This record gives sequence, C-alpha cells and structure tokens, in this order.
Amino acid sequence: MRILVTNDDGYHAPGLAVLEEIAAQFSDDIWVCAPSEEQSGAGHSLTLNRPVRLQRFAARRFAVTGTPTDSVMMALREVLDSPPDLILSGVNRGANLGDDITYSGTVSAAIEGALAGIRSIALSQVYGPSTISAGDAGLFEAATQWGPKTIQPLLDAPFDDRTLVNINFPPCSANDVRGVRVARQGFHDYSRGSVVEGKDPRGHRYFWFGLHAIEHTLDHGTDLEAIADGYVAVTPLQLDLTHHSSLKSFADRYAS
Ligand code: MN
Repeated sequence: MRILVTNDDGYHAPGLAVLEEIAAQFSDDIWVCAPSEEQSGAGHSLTLNRPVRLQRFAARRFAVTGTPTDSVMMALREVLDSPPDLILSGVNRGANLGDDITYSGTVSAAIEGALAGIRSIALSQVYGPSTISAGDAGLFEAATQWGPKTIQPLLDAPFDDRTLVNINFPPCSANDVRGVRVARQGFHDYSRGSVVEGKDPRGHRYFWFGLHAIEHTLDHGTDLEAIADGYVAVTPLQLDLTHHSSLKSFADRYAS
C-alpha cells in the first residue's frame, strides 16, 4: 500500500513526524510531500500567481513552496509515478471541528485527494491548557496512541466517490481517551472573533486575527460533542455542498 503523507503545518512540523510514524505501521511505501512553510488557514487554495518550487530532501521526501492543495497536486502529478492508495493529512496542531473545516488546509489536502479519487483522511490533534503545557510529545499523545486503531477500520471501508474522513483526537492523555465515536459535523456559534491591533517597527498599524475560545452549543451527535466527551471524533465528509432540499423551491421561482 502506497501512502502519501502531507499537512498544512509545514514540512518541519512535529505533527508530520507523528503522522509518518502512524503511517509506518501500515506500510513501508511512504511518501511525504508537504508545504515548505506553515499554511494553516489556507483552506483549499491553489497558488496561481507565482511559481511553486519542489524541494527534494530524500528519495521519498519533498516540500512544495505552496499550499496543502499545491502539495497534493504536485505529489500526484510530478512526484509519484503511480497514485497512492491512501492520503493522510496532518496531524494538525489544533482542532478542525465543525464549520472550521472549510478554513482548514489539513482537511483541504484530503479534499484534493478525494477529488482525485484517492482514499483520503485528515487528522487533527485538539489541544487544551493541560496538553499544550506538556510539549510536543504530550500534545500529540492521543493522536500517536489512537491514530493507528482509528485509521485501521477505514482502510477497507467503502468510501463513496468524493467523500473523505475527518478525524480529531481529544485534548487529553492517551489513557484518558474514552474511545472512538463516529459523529456528524457540528457548528460553532458564529463569533466575530478577536482582532489584535498593533504597530509595526515603522509605526504602521497592523491587525492579527487572535486565538480565542469559540463558543458552541453542543448539538447531540456532533464532532464537537464527541471531543468534549473525550472521544476520538471520526466524521465522514462529502464534497457535494448542494442544499438538495432547496433545489425544487428555488427552481420554482425561476419557472415562468
Ligand atoms: Mn495547521
């Protein structure tokens, strides 16, 4: 089984090494092709207004000066002589839950894989005050220990066309994880968020989107609830964003 490993935190991110270790439990045909720098929040963006460069660090290790989507495209079109059987994206440093997934470069790399007809899985490690203080090893402990047994059942599960799976690991030690729960995507309550204003060294104002607690009303059966309950959240996603039940009523408005 050929596995492509990518991410959005960048080629040097600790979570990429965690994911390579997880992938190594399934195969020895592992290829890495990831953005050369952090691309968190890049979503499904594609670099069109400048060239991207491919950096080769070892026979099966590459970085791309672009986005996660660029990295998957380059892997499929330039790096690999035959497509991978599986694309793993992550392990992201931080949650990709609820409506945040459309901002996510981690999930978008898996979206690109799903569009290419390849079984694709995004993985993210949620962190909280107790795990962030434990350093990288502590931060990724739940993902490290629970990653293989969460992925294993998905390797021969039927994936419909243009679907993918989003996995989040809860912010606790591996021993405190209560199990794996298959859950639908939830939604955060919409928040205007925090914007931090400052002055650069030349006296010009800048703004920086801050990190803030995002409130959510815990809907039953969601990925947000699963994480709050201490479970690994496994969410199958589809790329058809059509709101099917509105098709007829909207069409009726244009009928003469
Ligand atoms: Mn990230």
